[in-house]
Amino acid sequence: MDIFCKIINGEVPTYKLYEDEIVLAFLDVNPNHNGHTLIVPKKHYENFFDIDEETLRHILLIGKNIAKELKEKLNYDGISLCQNNGYGQEVKHFHLHLIPKYENENKLSVEEIYNILK
Ligand SMILES: [Zn+2]
Repeated sequence: MDIFCKIINGEVPTYKLYEDEIVLAFLDVNPNHNGHTLIVPKKHYENFFDIDEETLRHILLIGKNIAKELKEKLNYDGISLCQNNGYGQEVKHFHLHLIPKYENENKLSVEEIYNILK
């Protein structure tokens, strides 16, 4: 079982930001930048090609809401959405990265970011 299925099943603790019946969003434990967030479907889909369209749309909409919340609380200067498939995809469970970018970044720990966001 992959790490995201374990997180969804509650076997691995996470810095949860959002949850509904379809998706879970949480902070990446190895962030590129402050507020680096992952959004995953609760049902296991390996990648962009096998995820169903309704779930894909939902992930994107939730991503937009989370991006707005991150902007309010972290005041990033830009944000990138990234989604890897096949080669370069570390976890074979669909995930969308939200990666805030800063002109001047004071890099904080995941714990510190979580305390700002929760
Ligand atoms: Zn999985």
